[in-house]
Amino acid sequence: MSAASPYPHLLAPLDLGFTQLRNRVLMGSMHTGLEDRRKHFPRLAAYFAERARGGVGLIVTGGFSPNIEGWLLPLASKLSTSASARAHRLITDAVHAEGGKIALQILHAGRYSYHPLSVAPSRIKSPITPFTPRELPAHGVERQIRAFARCAALAREAGYDGVEIMGSEGYFINQFLAPGTNLRNDHYGGSLENRQRLAIEIVERSRAAVGKDFIIIYRQSLIDLVPGGQTWSEIVQLARAIETAGATLINTGIGWHEARVPTIVTSVPRAAFAWVTKKLKAEGLKIPLITTNRINAPDVAEQLLADGYADMVSMARPLLADADFVKKAAENRADEINTCIACNQACLDHTFRNKLVSCLVNPRAAHETELNYAPADVKKRIAVVGAGPAGLACAAVLAERGHAVDLFDSADEIGGQFNMAKRVPGKEEFYETIRYFKRRIEVTGVKLQLGKRVDAEQLKAAGYDEVVIATGVLPRNPKIPGQADGEAAGRVLSYVDVLRGGAAVGKRVALIGAGGIGFDVAEFLASDGHSTTLDLPAWQREWGVGDPEDARGGVAGVIRDVPPSPREIWLLQRKPGKPGAGLGKTSGWVHRASLQMKQVKMIPGLNYEAIEAGGLRVSYGEKRERPQLIEVDHIVLCAGQESLRELEEPLKLAGVSVHRIGGADVAAELDAKRAIDQGCRLAARL
Ligand code: FAD
Ligand code: NAP
Ligand code: SF4
Repeated sequence: MSAASPYPHLLAPLDLGFTQLRNRVLMGSMHTGLEDRRKHFPRLAAYFAERARGGVGLIVTGGFSPNIEGWLLPLASKLSTSASARAHRLITDAVHAEGGKIALQILHAGRYSYHPLSVAPSRIKSPITPFTPRELPAHGVERQIRAFARCAALAREAGYDGVEIMGSEGYFINQFLAPGTNLRNDHYGGSLENRQRLAIEIVERSRAAVGKDFIIIYRQSLIDLVPGGQTWSEIVQLARAIETAGATLINTGIGWHEARVPTIVTSVPRAAFAWVTKKLKAEGLKIPLITTNRINAPDVAEQLLADGYADMVSMARPLLADADFVKKAAENRADEINTCIACNQACLDHTFRNKLVSCLVNPRAAHETELNYAPADVKKRIAVVGAGPAGLACAAVLAERGHAVDLFDSADEIGGQFNMAKRVPGKEEFYETIRYFKRRIEVTGVKLQLGKRVDAEQLKAAGYDEVVIATGVLPRNPKIPGQADGEAAGRVLSYVDVLRGGAAVGKRVALIGAGGIGFDVAEFLASDGHSTTLDLPAWQREWGVGDPEDARGGVAGVIRDVPPSPREIWLLQRKPGKPGAGLGKTSGWVHRASLQMKQVKMIPGLNYEAIEAGGLRVSYGEKRERPQLIEVDHIVLCAGQESLRELEEPLKLAGVSVHRIGGADVAAELDAKRAIDQGCRLAARL
């Protein structure tokens, strides 16, 4: 451990006996979509090589199934032949050339498979997949164990430094361990010893197949977060057996995919589950333990190691967001780290839609071979108008490429709408993106002018080579009858008044529009300034997370304790169907559940007839039935947005080369993912 190191515990090497890791950072397994086809391996190799160059101690690949039954999806990634192993050489060689180490994750999906060949300990369909699995006969179980051991041996043949055996998150092995999914009465079911047999045999037989000098990480679920999950004594017993069976490291797994407790979205407190790894650490195992989930900053990781929570820290999405995370930490440049905000918008949400993964704050992630910021051939003078996410990303990349960039914003702070997002309880991570861009424009030499609303005349007069319009959006005015009349007008606010202007909001509120912003405003008003994301015990009470020592799975019998909303809130939309249907696949359910727990009334399919002195008059359905006055003190408009691009026409008419990005380009379905991606891609071209 070096005394001069800014993060002495995190950056200390880890001696595994037969090999040494250069630090305590494990890049956790993430499926990128590049694993599934061999033709994508060159891209996968470039993606991992960049992270190895950035200093990660040990990389774990996305999951590879050991056989067809274990596929996540038809034709998904699999490693079961020597020919496939040879193809992986491209990946392992690229990582080793950068001084890195890499392990292959072996993932058998069991009943979480999205195909009709799925198998499981018992014939019980999962709540999140459409296929009922086939119950494996005993010889079928033996075949799966053999497939795991063969896959481990092939990983070694392919040049990997190790494997991670996926035993958590509710996948195949975890399904055998938990009594809720294992109803067998042969020697793989029933008693605890029988339920744990599969996991132990897989580790033993994999160890026998790979020899002593090869890393085997076992990813163990330390809290299942489902009522039929494991108890603490079962977990400890398994960890000891896994150690004896020959694992090199135990990585922590948190929650099954079907759990109704959020585990990684942005509103989960940082390091919210590290305590379970610490609890296992207290049991005195000899092999190192890895902790995980919502650890996205070097100081948090350092503190966990310093406080004895674990021996190593797994970070997955933070390494998508910034390949140089470790390098920047080691060079005392932590303020330059592009922090993962745990939004899932470009990573997990893409995975669940079968789209290639990337990162909202770093569009180069998994696109390293096609999106590059090479020095510009011709250096230009470029104005970027608007320092929201689109303008910031564009200006920084332009400057990095050598252009002279002036960045203007009429506001007195950078960040655009992120300055509203960051005030929403549970979205505190958005501060980090603003911090990152503030530093990045300093480092790249962008000339920033705040409090300056530029007009077309000024831009023309300055004679720029290119002008980028990143002026964002204006809130849409839904023009509801009565909205601007007399006393009623005093009740009408926009989301900007509430989130930016600090407008006082009464005890009864109707929100017009149940999109992303309507949901965020509802959360803001229902939480009344208290964010459980910054208060772990309160968050655990809210979501009913207990100690698996007292509650099976960490949830069975735990009563949720949610502070009541200080307001009666109506969240409204005109279209029929579930409010919030357009929210993220992996995060929308959390937003809906959170508002339901706070008794927000979410009502679709109504018409806004008028705003009156007493509140909002509505009717229902196409026939405008059941007219009703919703008596409220305030009506907050969250009715979408429209592009602001008044600068474009006059500049074009004057022959200036103009480009539009972000909200200024298209307001519909705008999010920061598109804004930043567009900004970076334009800047890479100019
Ligand atoms: P903006 O962020 O609107 O920035 C435009 C900037 O231009 C502003 O700073 C403005 O002051 C400046 N400007 C305008 N005209 C001029 C001028 N003439 N001269 C100088 N400056 C000018 N997106 C997500 O992806 N995920 C989320 O979870 C999310 N949550 C959100 C929560 C809230 C409460 C809000 C309001 C938005 C949220 N968004 C989210 C949306 C996201 O913030 C926007 O998509 C993104 O900010 C758009 O970026 P932009 O740069 O195009 O525009
Ligand atoms: P939005 O998601 O498009 O929602 C707009 C809402 O306004 C809809 O509920 C719509 O529903 C309603 N609406 C539209 N026109 C209306 C009209 N004329 N009168 C009354 N209601 C009208 O937009 P947003 O909520 O403003 O969010 C902007 C962007 O920010 C979104 O695209 C989103 O991606 C992003 N964002 C994302 C998150 C996130 O968590 N990922 C959070 C916040 C914002 P009806 O038409 O059915 O009434
Ligand atoms: Fe993190 Fe969001 Fe990027 Fe995923 S898309 S890595 S959650 S910042």
